[in-house]
Amino acid sequence: MTRRALVIGGSLGGLLAAHLLRRAHWHAVVFERNEAALTGRGVGLGTHPQLIATLRRASIAFDATMGITVAKVVCLDRTGKIMVEQPTARTMSAWSRLYRALRDALPAQDYRLGKKLRRIEQDAASVTAIFEDGTSERGDLLVGADGIRSTVRAQFLPRAQPVYAGYVAWRAVLDEARVPREAHREIFELYTFCLPKGEQLLGYPVPGRDGDTVPGRRRYNIVWYRPADSPALNEMCTDASGQLHSGGIAPSLIRNEVIARVKADAEALLAPQLAEIFLRSGPFFQPIFDFESAALAFGRAVLTGDAAFVVRPHVGAGATKAAIDATVLADCLGRADEDVAGGLARFESVQLPFGRDMVALSRQQGDYLSAQLKPVAQRHGGQLRRDVEALLHAHGTRSDQIGDIVAARGLEVYF
Ligand SMILES: Cc1cc2nc3c(=O)[nH]c(=O)nc-3n(C[C@H](O)[C@H](O)[C@H](O)COP(=O)(O)OP(=O)(O)OC[C@H]3O[C@@H](n4cnc5c(N)ncnc54)[C@H](O)[C@@H]3O)c2cc1C
Repeated sequence: MTRRALVIGGSLGGLLAAHLLRRAHWHAVVFERNEAALTGRGVGLGTHPQLIATLRRASIAFDATMGITVAKVVCLDRTGKIMVEQPTARTMSAWSRLYRALRDALPAQDYRLGKKLRRIEQDAASVTAIFEDGTSERGDLLVGADGIRSTVRAQFLPRAQPVYAGYVAWRAVLDEARVPREAHREIFELYTFCLPKGEQLLGYPVPGRDGDTVPGRRRYNIVWYRPADSPALNEMCTDASGQLHSGGIAPSLIRNEVIARVKADAEALLAPQLAEIFLRSGPFFQPIFDFESAALAFGRAVLTGDAAFVVRPHVGAGATKAAIDATVLADCLGRADEDVAGGLARFESVQLPFGRDMVALSRQQGDYLSAQLKPVAQRHGGQLRRDVEALLHAHGTRSDQIGDIVAARGLEVYF
């Protein structure tokens, strides 16, 4: 008899897990709390070979329409001149492009919207998901792919909380047609860094609104990391009615004065090409958090993706890590046959060290930014000054760094 997997969370992590489980002969059904499909949300997303291999395994071809490959990485100074230039080979996709491909490939009845998990019950034979709308679903396995504020995790590890890394990522995305002509000619096709003191910005082209990679219909994506201590973050996360949205404020609720301030800073601090793009966009910000779960398997329930470990975006591997989780999960369950709890215990023993390594890599890449909140006298080495050549090199070889962790943890057999 086909076993049933309840996947909580319908973002990339949940979709990847559902596809890989289905391939392993599970009937996986996804439950997403949002009432409407997530299409149209999300911006640029880095890809790595393990993500592409997992998509292929899910019978989703990663062809030229999936992303834009950038051949050169540069760093601009404040005047817009190239300071450093290196070859690179990164393919940048868009969150919505991958979401659409994964979601379209699932039967509609197995992707349920408006299903917010309240809690889980389980016994030796099954697991039950109880939803806020009063309904419940029974399965043989429950996958918690419900993100950084996971409800599944909160039930088993109520004290585990993400830790604020001391900086936010301002995000901006602009349709290619609206990018000023000169900026387009000079940087659109490049992966571009700009390094105001204590901060870091990167920009790159991504697929357009409908996932289009045709020149003229793409978009330009900016991520600008800016330190902010906790009081400053709380001020930024307070809406016009005075309500504080700790953990992150919805883009539509960010106060006008906060947006006006960052736009003024963009004019004062950024290379003109990047400032012009940023000023034309509707920027929003996300606080950066670290999270490492102390456990992943709880009987018939398991955590994957951001519910398990949150990797700072410097590594561009949120989706790649979720893909690796999905691959290993399907394999461990396949080997365990009827012993679901045993398969999940095996998954935990492999993915806990892997997740910790990924978080450590991402923390190291953000160390300079986190250190900006410390007095100068307490900073050391790379926390005080950046080696621009090394920064660009690390960016260009990111897939190798992830490949090293995959190999060190014995996961290369999968990829
Ligand atoms: C809308 C959106 C846009 C994103 N855009 C980008 C991007 O542009 N670039 C990038 O690198 N990364 C982006 N991410 C993050 C990236 O998708 C993740 O790193 C990757 O998908 C792995 O995370 P995840 O799927 O495990 O968790 P998440 O992506 O956080 O998804 C968790 C999902 O679970 C749902 N959920 C939460 N609680 C419940 C509950 N109680 N019941 C049911 N469902 C629940 C959420 O609504 C969400 O859809 C985005 C995530 C989201 C949700």
